[in-house]
Amino acid sequence: MTQTTPNHTQSVAGWAALEQNGKITPYVFKRRENGPDDVTIKVLFCGMCHTDLHHLRNDWGITFYPLVPGHEITGLITKVGSNVSEFKVGDRVGVGCLAASCLNCEFCNDSQENYCEQVQFTYGGIFWDGSITYGGYSEMLVAHKRYVVHVPDGLPMDGAAPLLCAGITVYSPMKQHNMMQPGKKLGVVGLGGLGHVAIKFAKAVGLHVTVISTSPSKEKEAKDRLGADEFLLSTDVKQMRAHSRTLDFIIDTVAAKHSLGPILDLLKVKGNLVLVGAPDKPVDLPSFPLIFGKRMVSGSMTGGMKETQEMMNFCAKHNITCDIELVKPDNINEAMDRLARNDVRYRFVIDITAAKSSL
Ligand code: NAP
Ligand code: ZN
Repeated sequence: MTQTTPNHTQSVAGWAALEQNGKITPYVFKRRENGPDDVTIKVLFCGMCHTDLHHLRNDWGITFYPLVPGHEITGLITKVGSNVSEFKVGDRVGVGCLAASCLNCEFCNDSQENYCEQVQFTYGGIFWDGSITYGGYSEMLVAHKRYVVHVPDGLPMDGAAPLLCAGITVYSPMKQHNMMQPGKKLGVVGLGGLGHVAIKFAKAVGLHVTVISTSPSKEKEAKDRLGADEFLLSTDVKQMRAHSRTLDFIIDTVAAKHSLGPILDLLKVKGNLVLVGAPDKPVDLPSFPLIFGKRMVSGSMTGGMKETQEMMNFCAKHNITCDIELVKPDNINEAMDRLARNDVRYRFVIDITAAKSSL
């Protein structure tokens, strides 16, 4: 599908996959003119979320091609519309997963735009004007002001980029379940982009953190550098059993099909497991660990805009940034392959300014 919308007149250099599992290649496309409620952003950095990989492979059966991925975007405002007073040219800003919502329902009115029935995402969505949205693997973005946040002074633009998805996706359920305050015991399943930020948030507020991982090689770093208190190998049945009924809350960030049974056993009675990882196949959910421990399982999808700004401010206050490896646009495919192999500590971020512009 290609853009045919009339006011999409601005040419933008970006990077796209043209077909399922295709390589990501330079791709010039059109964006809309900056409308009265829009801001135009010169993109500086864009994180590579595992969701980008799911989309590239069409894991969820919902991908449109050409696909310009990217929803962990930081950049500088270059233009503001006539109705925009919240931002000015030169401001450091971020854009996450959301591009549009109805702005009129109970969820939008409560700044939970992410749960609006008409929510549209930063890429692979359908914008109000009928055009397909293209993400942050590109040099410029036009965004409605509602879905833009300030990047507070003191946060580096590269290390802050993944906060716009990975950060808010763990912050929102942690806050909802009263885990953004000290005292409780948190479990983090999967030590990747989302998981490593969850540990940082938890340590900033004084939680006890147990990492549950498939990668023995991550133990030392998880404890010594990220500050995790305990590290469990999910493949070690004895170790997992020895920790049954020890955790208040678990956030599961795993990107592939797995069994929730042994994870649920780690929860205390009435404990909560929140799924944020989005495997392409259903996870195994046995009834017994739920029944015997009166435990709960739920899900959570990114966060609303007010909460996203709150999370950015929290990160500035606590000096939290993501552990990143910068990649040049020419090396996106290599980075994507490494992401698929679980070979990243803990987020690739594309340095968009390193592009040889194809315009
Ligand atoms: P990531 O950096 O690749 O981390 C995922 C982690 O899952 C890996 O580091 C790995 O940790 C663990 N894992 C275990 N088995 C795996 C397998 N077979 N394949 C891949 N990972 C495996 O991914 P991410 O960017 O944090 O995203 C994680 C998931 O969350 C993805 O499914 C993504 O689409 C989803 N997501 C959801 C939302 C939302 O709103 N709910 C937002 C963003 C992302 P260990 O090595 O420690 O086992
Ligand atoms: Zn994401």
